[in-house]
Amino acid sequence: MNNLKNLRGTTDLLPEQLKKWQNVENIIKDQLSRANVKEIRTPIIEMTELFIRSIGEGTDVVNKEMYTFLDRGERSCTLRPEGTASVARALINNGNLKGTFNKLWYMGPMFRYERPQAGRQRQFHQLGVEFIGYESPNSDIKIITLAWDILQKLGISELNLEINSLGDRTDRENYKIAFLKWLKDNFDDLDQDSKARINKNPLRILDTKNPDTQRLLENAPKLNQFLSEKSLERYSFIKNQLEFLKIPFVENLKLVRGLDYYSHTAFEITSSALGSQATVCGGGRYDDLIDQMGGDKTPAIGFAIGLERLILIAGTSLEKGRDPDIYIVNKGQLAESLAIALSRILSNFDLITELDLSGSSFSRQFKKANKCNAKSVVVIGDEEAKKNEFSIKLFNNSIENNNELKISIEDNAKLEEWILKNLNLNISAKK
Ligand code: ATP
Ligand code: MG
Repeated sequence: MNNLKNLRGTTDLLPEQLKKWQNVENIIKDQLSRANVKEIRTPIIEMTELFIRSIGEGTDVVNKEMYTFLDRGERSCTLRPEGTASVARALINNGNLKGTFNKLWYMGPMFRYERPQAGRQRQFHQLGVEFIGYESPNSDIKIITLAWDILQKLGISELNLEINSLGDRTDRENYKIAFLKWLKDNFDDLDQDSKARINKNPLRILDTKNPDTQRLLENAPKLNQFLSEKSLERYSFIKNQLEFLKIPFVENLKLVRGLDYYSHTAFEITSSALGSQATVCGGGRYDDLIDQMGGDKTPAIGFAIGLERLILIAGTSLEKGRDPDIYIVNKGQLAESLAIALSRILSNFDLITELDLSGSSFSRQFKKANKCNAKSVVVIGDEEAKKNEFSIKLFNNSIENNNELKISIEDNAKLEEWILKNLNLNISAKK
């Protein structure tokens, strides 16, 4: 059996690690619901065509990274490499988008066939937020601040926001002409990947990771020189608003993002606390995507945060889970039955209850209660069980033992009173 291993680039998340994941997810969900952003869940598997049409041929994701296969009905299927395309498809499929506003988030696994390393996996997780139907530059600001504030809330320091403007479709068409000319003049010095992209998708070359090509590109015409008056005005507004909100940023002309469908604002948030895979959040406006996919023309903007990278840099205080509030020690047949009945009563409270199912000695059970940091302990032995009773006390309070109480299993009022008095339980938390 020892040759059954998980696939390369995938990981198991065990309960100890998941404490941090759950704390991080809860903070994120809390922030999003406060901003009235609603959750959407789309399938993990889609028609391959969806990603080819939206992300675009000539991108690394479509060319090299997708998990694509034929299903038993000979349909080409792909495990989603990102979430935006599916969200757009779901909205198009579910009705007319004209004039509607949707603020949506999703969280879940994505799949890309890449070389695994720290912060880079083949199955990884993203939180994505999409504002669909929103055109105003202030919606760009809202999206950027939402991402920024989530990262701040998670105690992440050393954050850097980089922004750029990609202009609109016409700006990019104008730029493409000049850039293509330059590419042809410098063809021999380009790397193989970039040469192949010239005809398919020349702007992707700007996104190259090849250091020689990156150096060469420093002399190429720049996209920002081709932005129209209107696009420049929009971009200035964004920069001014960020300054007003005291969110530090740097402009990065090379930031074109790996995906094909962006226009105007593109941004990334990196953390110096991460090594070479420094980008924790990537986002931008994609006003042309939805009509390109067959929907009504609908402006939109969004971002995605890579959760693995986020977990690597989120504050260590988030690693702690909640310890049990009550540990039920029980021994003997009658006591065990009573213990189960009591654990069901306690499930009506916002409490974490650990029911000892070991049948081992009292002292062993007490040791375990101590080890898991239980706040209080219920003891049920034969004597108690015969009288239909249990005793409950705070665990680390042997000196001042006046909180210990014997309670009848039927006396819910007395139990509730003890819990509220001793376990710092908010009354409204009782279900
Ligand atoms: P990179 O340049 O690091 O490959 P990307 O531009 O491909 O990133 P996006 O498609 O913008 O990434 O996805 C948004 C975020 O998702 C990234 O900033 C990163 O945090 C995370 N991410 C992307 N690919 C992976 C991966 N293979 N493993 C873990 N996280 C990833
Ligand atoms: Mg990538």
